[in-house]
Amino acid sequence: MDDFYAARDNTMPPLPWTNFAPPHTGRIVISETELAQTLTHELFHSLSLSKNQVVHKHSWAEQKDKTHVVVHQIKSCPPGSYTRIGCAKKNSYIGEFMKGFWGRDLNRWYNALVAEPERGQVVGMFRAGKYVNSYAATDPQEDLAESFSNFVFANKVDVRSLAGKKTYFFAGYPELLQIRGHVRSRLASLKTSQSTRLAFSIKDLN
Ligand SMILES: [Zn+2]
Repeated sequence: MDDFYAARDNTMPPLPWTNFAPPHTGRIVISETELAQTLTHELFHSLSLSKNQVVHKHSWAEQKDKTHVVVHQIKSCPPGSYTRIGCAKKNSYIGEFMKGFWGRDLNRWYNALVAEPERGQVVGMFRAGKYVNSYAATDPQEDLAESFSNFVFANKVDVRSLAGKKTYFFAGYPELLQIRGHVRSRLASLKTSQSTRLAFSIKDLN
């Protein structure tokens, strides 16, 4: 707490810049597409979990009896609207998505979360055609973000499958169609103007 007041009052001296080697060195090579897909996934988390979309609950991560807190939080949200962050608001992306596509899997996910709140993610729910990939099946929020990323990057969607319907879900929102067009045109111009791979060296950043 002392640090907090020192920082607020601007009385804390600046931290000295260390000159010892960082713990990780070497190159991380990631394709432009992988990078863009990851950023798009994260972008959608921030869009869909903002306070105008979800009524945030206090984090239960710090609580001792997590199961008790999770059960209480699930019960305190309108039925089927609980997300790990809080209760999905009416007409929110995550709320509509869970209502439209999660069905019985939502209860399976809640049960798994209550049984093992420490685990973080639920495994074993993936079925091809139902989820765009196995990570999407771990949590409704991850399903939403992965399906959105698929919506942005896929050229074709088979809407006969549930995974396809989840991907096509976003086309119902003009603002998301706009983001799709923007990301795709930026990526297309990157591909023509730069090398095919982006390379980062952690060492170079120090
Ligand atoms: Zn995620």
